[in-house]
Amino acid sequence: MIGRVNYPHPKLLPSGDNLKCARFTKQHRTFMSYEGGMLEELKMPSRKDVEEALLISLFKHQGVIKEFGSGEEIVDEIASYFTLSELQRNAFLETVYRKENRVKKVSLWHRLLFRAAASLANEDMVSRPTETIHLTNRREWMLTEKGFDTALMLMNIPEAKKDTLGIKSFEVQQVVKKITQNQRPEHYNPFSEEKKTIKIERELRLRARGFRQAVIEAYDYTCAVCGMKMYSPDFLSWEVEAAHIVPHSFMGKDDIWNGIALCRLHHWAFDTGWFTLTNDLKTEVSPKIRLLPQGFGVLSNFDFIKALSEKNTPIILPERKEIYPHINAINWHRENVFFQK
Ligand SMILES: [Zn+2]
Repeated sequence: MIGRVNYPHPKLLPSGDNLKCARFTKQHRTFMSYEGGMLEELKMPSRKDVEEALLISLFKHQGVIKEFGSGEEIVDEIASYFTLSELQRNAFLETVYRKENRVKKVSLWHRLLFRAAASLANEDMVSRPTETIHLTNRREWMLTEKGFDTALMLMNIPEAKKDTLGIKSFEVQQVVKKITQNQRPEHYNPFSEEKKTIKIERELRLRARGFRQAVIEAYDYTCAVCGMKMYSPDFLSWEVEAAHIVPHSFMGKDDIWNGIALCRLHHWAFDTGWFTLTNDLKTEVSPKIRLLPQGFGVLSNFDFIKALSEKNTPIILPERKEIYPHINAINWHRENVFFQK
C-alpha cells in the first residue's frame, strides 16, 4: 500500500487523537508522539519551514488561500515546493476509535500543513477560515498585516513596496468591507474632515490600502475609461489605479463614492483635467484638445483622448449602483479640475 509506513501500529496504543507512544531512538531517549515519530522517520519538513512556505504561498495567492482539504491544489503546491517524495505525500496517520469501532486515516502532510496554518493563526499571522468567512463570505486563510510584513521579510521585498502590491490582508479587507457596504448617502460630502484629527499613521495607511483595494475590486481591475486590465508578470500588482475624484491634496475622502479605477494614462489625464465625467457618467473631454500640436496625445494611430470626446463614451461601472461615483464628487472635479474653456 503506497504511503503505508512501518511504524508502531496505533492499535497497540491508547485511543483518541493525541496518541502517544514511548519511542526510544538511538540518539535520544525521548517520549515522542506517534505523529512526531512519523514526521521524523519520513524526514518531513519542520513545522517552522512549513509555516514560512505557507506565508510565501499566501503572498503569491494575493493573501488568501481557500480552506484546504487534503485534495486541494495548494496542498500539492506546497508539497512541490519542498519536493516531497510520493511516500512523504501519501503517508497517513491512523487513529483508532475503539468505541465506534473505526479507524480514521489522515494524510500526514496535510495534517502538518494544517498544524502550521493553525500555529500561524495563533501567532496572529493569518486569520482562520472561521473568522475570514464573516468578512468575505468564503472560508479562507488570509494574511494579517503581521503575516504580510513577515512574508515581505521572507521574500526580501522592501516594506515601502507594500502599498503598491495587490495583496489582501485581514485588516485591509475590514476597511474594504466598511467602504463598500456603507449605505450610499444622498447628501454626500466628498471632503474629509477626519484627516486633521486622526494622527495614527498606521490607520491612515490601512484606510488608503482599503480604498485602493475596494475601488479596483469594484471595477474588476479594469480602467473605467478604456477597459485596460493588466497585471505585473509576477502577478503581484495590478496596473489599474484607484483614482480619487476629489484628490487627496484637496482633502478628498478615501471612500468608494469618491473613487474610480483608471489606468495610469487615464488617471493622469483625469487628474490634470483633460477629461471629466458628466452627471450621467460619461466622459467629457476638454476643448483644449483642439489646440494640441499634431502627433500629441496619440498612441500609435490611436488618439487616446480624442477618442473619448467623439461620442461622450459611457464609462465602465461596477455592478452595484450604490458604489458608483457620487455626483457631488464629480461636480467638484468638473468645476475645479477640468479645463472647460
Ligand atoms: Zn485607461
